Amino acid sequence: MIRLAGCRLVLPGSVLQDGWIDVADGRIASLGTGPPPHGAPALHLPGRTLVPGFIDLHVHGGDGAAFERADAEDVERAVRFHRRHGTTRTLASVTTGDAAGMIAATRVIAGCAERLPGLEGVHIEGPFLDRTRRGAQDPRFLAAPDPLLLRKLLEAGAGRVRQMTLAPELPGAGAIARELVAEGVIAAAGHTDADYRCAAAAFRGPFRLATHLFNGMRPWHHRDGGAAGAAIDHADAVELIADGHHVSDSAIRMVFRLVGAERVALITDAISAAGLPDGPARVGALDVVVRGGEARLADGSSLAGSTLTLDAAVRRLVRDVGIDIGDAVTASSATPARALGLADRTGTLEVGKDADLVVLDGDLEVAAVMAGGAWDGPAPAT
Ligand SMILES: [Zn+2]
Repeated sequence: MIRLAGCRLVLPGSVLQDGWIDVADGRIASLGTGPPPHGAPALHLPGRTLVPGFIDLHVHGGDGAAFERADAEDVERAVRFHRRHGTTRTLASVTTGDAAGMIAATRVIAGCAERLPGLEGVHIEGPFLDRTRRGAQDPRFLAAPDPLLLRKLLEAGAGRVRQMTLAPELPGAGAIARELVAEGVIAAAGHTDADYRCAAAAFRGPFRLATHLFNGMRPWHHRDGGAAGAAIDHADAVELIADGHHVSDSAIRMVFRLVGAERVALITDAISAAGLPDGPARVGALDVVVRGGEARLADGSSLAGSTLTLDAAVRRLVRDVGIDIGDAVTASSATPARALGLADRTGTLEVGKDADLVVLDGDLEVAAVMAGGAWDGPAPAT
């Protein structure tokens, strides 16, 4: 058994000071506040905060590795990089590319997910997206909704495709989304030019999630809220990139107030350049330049994913945006766990759940990460 004590615990709906937590058989066996019961020696962590492991529904890579490259070493490298930053469950995103490449990347990620704990599966972003809202999706490979291509992607994923982003207004998108739902895959609306009516109908129908709210969609307008307004009203949850570049702090505060943390899923949308110094990078076949941590297409026309990690997102929310740590952690962990159907196993610090947790120091920097009851790297210094 591992006992952690003397630290702050961020629980669903409350924050305990001077808390303790016991981990046994990979799960949270018990927790409380004050002096822990007699028995086991404790790792004392004064000044530290324990939060549930983060869950990233939308990430393309990190540490120089990209999921879309269809290379198992790249997949493992990117997953490990983000785990060091507290992400204990990952959906690896495949960006729009040629069909053969997307199928190959999906197959490789699905294979890795069979043996790499915490890699939950694949998020396929495209290719059924709107051209005008494509962001950094390669325009050469955007396609009309194609049930045959969907079938090939799902087969390559062998049950590990968990989410697909598509534009609901495209002819045939509804049939694709219904097929996704029938296969147990989350239909996410994104890179879309849908107006409010169309997007609201999509969210009342098979679509559950809004892909990076505000980014890659028609701007919110007071006479037509567009897909953003429809997502705020009707989506089960909205993804949000809280890196300070994609969405302003005021818009983030508005989203937390309007939507509520239990419907906000923080994502990174990180590209392979996350964790690397500024410089040139690539997203699929497109050239990207990272300056001051902001990734843009080389021609400057669009943001091209981020260099964010989820620990940095939580830090920004708490320190710079004014979101309390309970809400920040709900959005980093509990909401994405629920979206993925994993809420009975992870996403909160509760007895019986998997011991996926992050130890944060006084500056909310990651001091240690535990996944399934095992430290990822050294145990935290006491
Ligand atoms: Zn993306």
